Parts: sequence; structure tokens; C-alpha cells
Amino acid sequence: MQLKLLWDLQEIDLAIRELEQKIEEAPALSGVKEASEDYERLEKEISEKGSLLKDKRKILKNLEMRDQKIVEDRKTLSDNMYDGTVTSIKELEQMQRKMELLAEDKQKNEDEILLLMEFVEEQESLLEYKTKELEKCKQELQKKETALEEDLDRFRRDLVNLQESRAGLAEKIEAKYINKYNMLAEKHQGEALARVGSNDICGGCRVFISSALRGHLYNPEAIVYCENCGRLLVRLDS
Ligand SMILES: [Zn+2]
Repeated sequence: MQLKLLWDLQEIDLAIRELEQKIEEAPALSGVKEASEDYERLEKEISEKGSLLKDKRKILKNLEMRDQKIVEDRKTLSDNMYDGTVTSIKELEQMQRKMELLAEDKQKNEDEILLLMEFVEEQESLLEYKTKELEKCKQELQKKETALEEDLDRFRRDLVNLQESRAGLAEKIEAKYINKYNMLAEKHQGEALARVGSNDICGGCRVFISSALRGHLYNPEAIVYCENCGRLLVRLDS
């Protein structure tokens, strides 16, 4: 009877051990860390792209103001040239030259504006795409975090139940059995007891039980150790 209880205790202890390992490994297996890194990487990329875009828009605005200024300068120059106040040919020629330079300048400025506008539009649609991606990333992360929390809650609840069952069971077992069990469990990774089936094989090390020992196993109170691995042998029905 005591051996049967001890066997049940071992089953509970092994289940507790497995559950504790699950709790320890759950965060790494959940993918939360990876999803969180993905999210942060994308968020950083968006922020960098956003400030680049802001800079480029500012430059674009300056170029547009410059264009406006060239238009005004040309108008003033043209007014001065044709209002009849300037009569010197040389001076008029210089003004004409300046007019041509302003035209070249305007063309160059317009080309720059066009290029920059294209770039800004491209970056804006890219930013829009990345922002949608970020939202997806965020949902993915939240989903994984929730799943992890639910798993951990369940594992912890199961653990508490197992610990309660263990305490109730341990009370029914004599101290000398518990002590032996603890000692052997430490030596055999928690598997202090080995079951012997109808094939007369030790469930711990898969070695045949000698006929000398076999007889003792029919006495439910007898303490019999496997000659090969040293585990406490227990013969259970079924
Ligand atoms: Zn054995």
C-alpha cells in the first residue's frame, strides 16, 4: 500500500517537474521576444523615415520660395529694362545677361523641385505602407503576449492543484518511505521507483529482474531494489 502511494507521489512529482519546466520555457517558446523586436525595429525605421521626410519637405519649401523669388527678380529686372530709364547699351546688355542667368537658375531650381517632389511622394507612400505593417506587428505581438499569459496562468493553476494533491498524499506515507524516495529520486532524475510489469523487466533500466528478487515483489510491503539500477521496484496491477 505504501509503495503504491509512493508511486503515485512520484507521478505527481514528475508532473510538477514537467510543469515547472514548461513555465520556465514558455516565454522563450512564445515568440513574444521576436515579435517585440520586430515591432521596435519597424517603429525605429518609421521614425527615421519620418524625420527624413520632414527635412526633405523643408528643403522643398525653400526651393519653392526660391522659385518665387526668381520670378519676382525677373519681373523687376524686366520692368527696369523696358521702362525707358536705362539708356546705356552696355548696361542694357548686362541686364539682358542677368535675365538669362535668372532663367537658367529657374530651370535648375525647377528640376530640383521635381526630383525632390518625386522622392517625397515615394517616401510618403512607403511610410504609409510601413505604418500599416507596424499596426499588424502590434496586433501580432499582443496576440502572442495574451497567449503566453493564458498559458502561464493555466500552468500555474495546474501547478497549485498538483502541489495540493502532493501535500495530501505525502501525509499518508510513512517518513522512512519518503526519505528513501527522496534519496533515490535525487540519484535518478526524479525516478526513484521503477515499475515491474508482467514481463518481469525493470521499467527504469529495462533489465530482467532475477528470479530471487521476483518472489519478494509479490509481497506488497517488501522493499526490493533493482540489482542493476538500484531503483525501488514496485509491482502494480494493470
Ligand atoms: Zn533497474
